[in-house]
Amino acid sequence: DGAVDWAAVRADFPLLLREVHGKPLIYLDNANTGQKPASVIEAVDGYYRRQNANVSRAVHQLGTEATEAYEGTRGKLARFLNVRADELVLCSGTTFAINLVAYSWALPRLGPGDTILVSRMEHHANIVPWRLVADRTGATVRVAEILDDGTLDLDALRRAMTPDVKLLALTHVSNVLGTVNPVREICREARRRGVVTVIDGSQAVPHMRVDIAALGCDFYAFTGHKMCGPTGTGALWARREHLEAMPPFLGGGEMIREVSFERIVYNDPPHRFEAGTPNIAGFVGLGAAVDYLERLGPEQVERREGELLAHLTESLSQVDGLRILGNAPRKAAVVSFLLEGAHAHDLATLLDLEGVAIRSGQHCAHPLLQFYGVAATCRVSPAFYNTHDEIDTFVAALLKVRRLLG
Ligand code: PMP
Repeated sequence: DGAVDWAAVRADFPLLLREVHGKPLIYLDNANTGQKPASVIEAVDGYYRRQNANVSRAVHQLGTEATEAYEGTRGKLARFLNVRADELVLCSGTTFAINLVAYSWALPRLGPGDTILVSRMEHHANIVPWRLVADRTGATVRVAEILDDGTLDLDALRRAMTPDVKLLALTHVSNVLGTVNPVREICREARRRGVVTVIDGSQAVPHMRVDIAALGCDFYAFTGHKMCGPTGTGALWARREHLEAMPPFLGGGEMIREVSFERIVYNDPPHRFEAGTPNIAGFVGLGAAVDYLERLGPEQVERREGELLAHLTESLSQVDGLRILGNAPRKAAVVSFLLEGAHAHDLATLLDLEGVAIRSGQHCAHPLLQFYGVAATCRVSPAFYNTHDEIDTFVAALLKVRRLLG
């Protein structure tokens, strides 16, 4: 595998050493959340042991250090994703980030006659906020449909971008199918038609080099806990012109310049959108996560996960009665499948007893599962720290469990 010692990389993740039900853990639920390297755990621990203070409020040494650490992560994320630091709003994750766009950008701007275009393959986090906006403004939600292979229907998407469409909500990578969408091409087309683009990067940033500037979108949301970072961290990137024009979403400390009972002068973006005490320790951890991924190299991560995906797909395709949803030409390492005669939850429950953690259910994507006419799937999502042996052990466990279910 070239220059990377993957066994050494795996050893960076202490949790992977544990057992479950007396079996070595095989963690294949990375699309749900990822495990953390020791450097991230130590960064959080060290912050609480040595630096803990509030940000942007105190002049004392600890306050200065905490502020520098928090702002340092903003800078690291900006370099990692090729954007300006003052265009990154730090927040609790993708869900918050998309809601911020919905409440601060969309709500004051949309009305009856306007349309929000949302793809069929979105996570509920990129559907529900738009439904809420539509209900409150009288705007319409239109669906950008997909094809059977789990790719976007690009012709239909172009046709759907009529002049009434003000916003397109699209995931970079599907959390159910693994489909990598041609975001750059789509954003170019959208921009030409004056459609503002909101890209959900939750499943992209952890798995490939993402250059947000090159994508040409208007908003890009992502979450820290899937990219080796702590839960409750994430960010919204937005073009400066949008941030300048957006009113705050939440009010409180940190986001103001002057307060009286009659009038508030807001702070500049991005601080305008970061009301209250943030998850400082979490962002210290996220900074360490960015360092970790940058050291490893997103290109190496993508290559390694591509190999694990090919192995997994090949092995599963030899299982009788197994159906994989979608087979897009470009995929991240996510495989959703159904096994004839076995319920997804039963499979996942029995696999857990074998030490194998996978997800079963609807993956916060009801409209997508409805498209395929299925009630639930099993989803397997390896990360770079998984091994080829684990894939083989998982497939053997799947066959065993299927026999148990008769
Ligand atoms: N979008 C996608 C594509 C996701 O996979 C997830 C996480 N499952 C989310 C949004 C929501 O992220 P979070 O729960 O961290 O806000």
